[in-house]
Amino acid sequence: MKGTPSMGKFKTPTHARCRRCGRRSFNYRRGRCAHCGFGATKKWRSYRWLKSLKERS
Ligand SMILES: [Zn+2]
Repeated sequence: MKGTPSMGKFKTPTHARCRRCGRRSFNYRRGRCAHCGFGATKKWRSYRWLKSLKERS
């Protein structure tokens, strides 16, 4: 087994499938998506440093 065996097995996932971005980034406990910010903001989570390669000027 790799990593830390004492961590236990994550039977209860922290993140579920997000309805908006489709990633498994929706945090159960916080009630928001770690990827797109669903639940925390109506807009998509975005940062200036997060701009895509295409948008780079
Ligand atoms: Zn999301």
